[in-house]
Amino acid sequence: MAHRAPCPLCADTGTSLHLRIEDVNFTREISAFDVLRCHECGLAFMSPWPTQNDIEEIYVHNRTFSTAFVNPNRDRFLFDHLEKLYWRYGSDIRSMARTCVALSEGKKHPRILGVGCSSGLFLDALSPLAPDAELTGIDIDPGAPRSASPQLCERIIVGDFLNCDLKPGFDIIAFRFVLEHVLSPADFLAKAAELLKPGGILFLSVPDMESPQAQAEGESWREFPHPDRRIGHIMWFTKKTINHIADTYGFDVQRRLNRGEIFYHLPVFLQKILRAVFGVDDTQNRFIQNYQTRILFSVVFDGILAEKISVGDKIYAFLKKKPRV
Ligand SMILES: [Zn+2]
Repeated sequence: MAHRAPCPLCADTGTSLHLRIEDVNFTREISAFDVLRCHECGLAFMSPWPTQNDIEEIYVHNRTFSTAFVNPNRDRFLFDHLEKLYWRYGSDIRSMARTCVALSEGKKHPRILGVGCSSGLFLDALSPLAPDAELTGIDIDPGAPRSASPQLCERIIVGDFLNCDLKPGFDIIAFRFVLEHVLSPADFLAKAAELLKPGGILFLSVPDMESPQAQAEGESWREFPHPDRRIGHIMWFTKKTINHIADTYGFDVQRRLNRGEIFYHLPVFLQKILRAVFGVDDTQNRFIQNYQTRILFSVVFDGILAEKISVGDKIYAFLKKKPRV
């Protein structure tokens, strides 16, 4: 079926319907939407496209992302130890921060900007890797600085990236799970390209629409909004979209990889057997019911191994700004 809605990234109008999500209560105004796929850049996006009011309802009024997350497993045996282990070896944040610093040419006093940084977890992970760095974060959520670490709370600007006056010449700009939330992704990318030094790194992480998990779960994929998960995603990406971004805004793709739950890359019959044997977590519907086993599995397989072999439902891309010609 042909739809004519301009793509929010490349403005092309050649799109097709991917799926429809009903009864989602995205905001007060949007209760259901279509997911359209752009033929030109491979981006998937919601239609109707949300307004500024919808976005403010999610981030400013509801403070969806600065509200402290309460882990439902916090009373479990060995919780503190396992969470530390996960943070050290299984978390994408530490691993991607290391890659950003390794790929960056700015080794002395690098200037690093986290756009949509929320409480600054990614900047906190970068800090020990580049101790002399100048860190800046920006987030639209007024609660963001309050939830940040003491060293960062002064460094987080509350406001809209597009209207914020920042001195150019950054070594690293991170959009960690940010682009899928913004109304004008093209403007965000153009501004980031302008603010980076030639040779500077733009780090993007986004949900992968073509991953086996997205395909298997359809409209219940956790990267789609759901009445119980007001996650505010309005776009979903593909590898083609990453290449389109690099070509359009003057970057080379330095590194691109996937990461996420390895389970969905196994044959379906094996998934069924494993679910029957290990069960499913009743709070997050994740493979393996037992919390301790799940964390250990997740560190080794969804963290370390998934990243090595590049599988999972998130894309991580490191784009290097081309020198001026
Ligand atoms: Zn497009």
